[in-house]
Amino acid sequence: MAEEVKNTEAKKPAKKKVSPGVLALRKVVDDVYEQAREAKKRGEPVGWSSSKFPCELAEAFDLKVVYPENQAAGIAANRDGEMLCQAAEDMGYDNDICGYTRISLAYAEGFRVGRKFDPATGEFIINPASGKPLKDENGNVVIDPETGKPKKDPKTQVPYEELVNINEIEALPDGPEKEMRLKALKPIRQNLMPMPDFVLCCNNICNCMTKWYENIARIHNIPLIMIDIPYNNDVEVDDSKVRYVRAQFDAAIKQLEQISGKKFDEKKFEQACANANRSATAWLRVCDYLQYKPAPMSGFDLFNHMADIVTARGKVETAEAFEQLARDLEENVKEGTTTLPFPEKKRIMFEGIPCWPKLPQLFKPLKENGINVTAVVYAPAFGFVYKDMDGMARAYYKAPNSVCIEQGVAWREGICRDNKVDGVLVHYNRSCKPWSGYMAEMQRRFTKDLGVPTAGFDGDQADPRNFNAAQYETRVQGLMEAMEANEKNNETKEA
Ligand code: SF4
Repeated sequence: MAEEVKNTEAKKPAKKKVSPGVLALRKVVDDVYEQAREAKKRGEPVGWSSSKFPCELAEAFDLKVVYPENQAAGIAANRDGEMLCQAAEDMGYDNDICGYTRISLAYAEGFRVGRKFDPATGEFIINPASGKPLKDENGNVVIDPETGKPKKDPKTQVPYEELVNINEIEALPDGPEKEMRLKALKPIRQNLMPMPDFVLCCNNICNCMTKWYENIARIHNIPLIMIDIPYNNDVEVDDSKVRYVRAQFDAAIKQLEQISGKKFDEKKFEQACANANRSATAWLRVCDYLQYKPAPMSGFDLFNHMADIVTARGKVETAEAFEQLARDLEENVKEGTTTLPFPEKKRIMFEGIPCWPKLPQLFKPLKENGINVTAVVYAPAFGFVYKDMDGMARAYYKAPNSVCIEQGVAWREGICRDNKVDGVLVHYNRSCKPWSGYMAEMQRRFTKDLGVPTAGFDGDQADPRNFNAAQYETRVQGLMEAMEANEKNNETKEA
């Protein structure tokens, strides 16, 4: 891809239509969750898996598996993260642990967000503070003469929300109350994830995973299949490490045989590996479209596709959908369009996971300053390709938080160079300490090695209590000014 990339004219925002590749990817993820629900109804075991557990193993048994990290991100993006984090804290978990973990443990315990209703009428009780400002036919905000404040558009108002427990609701006798309480559950697809019968945990993502999944297994009294990937102090994965992981693959296969009641199917496993490699190749191709300057897409699109590459890497439909998305982006390049809804003035690497509950606030100052995110380390980390079982063990040994700082810096600086960034914005994520801990040193190296300014802000991927919009806006503004000053300095040096 790199040699194909050349500078092009400024791109026009693409018409607001959803591309065929995006639609195909949405269907792939919906199907995974639908199939898991159907399997549960049929009495088949359903698994919960960490995002970088070798999905190829469960695919070889046709087991249906869903992904709590993606679910937690979706719950957070639907603004329910705070309530579920608080529920986990009330269960005794510290508010210092990962927000995804707290959301997931609260969900595993049965907690959900419901809408308040009047039991006498069955009507939802609307929160008068909710909703968008009402606008008149000229698009002006309507002011309430009594309060002097903007009136709310009743069409956008929503009910009060409360924490409920699905186990208590399901224990109610069948009847109108139970029906109403089920109907009052917030209608988001993440609330429909079936409860687990086994869990698949790989701690290449982080060691918090181990305790997270142990607790899910304890809450539901179900088997835990663990693949342990120790932190790697070297850049290479040596043969002893490969043997250690391969032995764990063998043990996992035996456990999966017991859970599924089936023998390991070598052919299905090989097919799942082929699909995973094809999906990864297509995903990397999609990521590489951010090398174009200006880019034919918004970097935030990659964040949205993380659920797709995590949830269904081992399925042929996923590979086909990502290949379609790559064709859509090629079309954007030919037509001179982009999914970025503003002209691209500056390009940055966004380091870390976005603050899902605050996406609009995250995007706003980037849009105001014309900054596109053209580099994200977290996305290509799921684009790994391997040839054989040893290669597969090596591939799963490498994830952003399980590699040494030298490897981590090299990955990021490579992407920054290929994707031509002008600066780096680092999310110091309160939830994700393994990721944020070494970022100060990385930030120092980016400036030294790449000669670009960097800025950091404090936030959280799931708990909105840890994000301050004013601090974030100031840091983005500061980064923009530093990038402009850097550009001028570079021009002066070249002149
Ligand atoms: S890597 Fe970070 S965000 Fe992901 S589970 Fe671990 S602590 Fe949470």
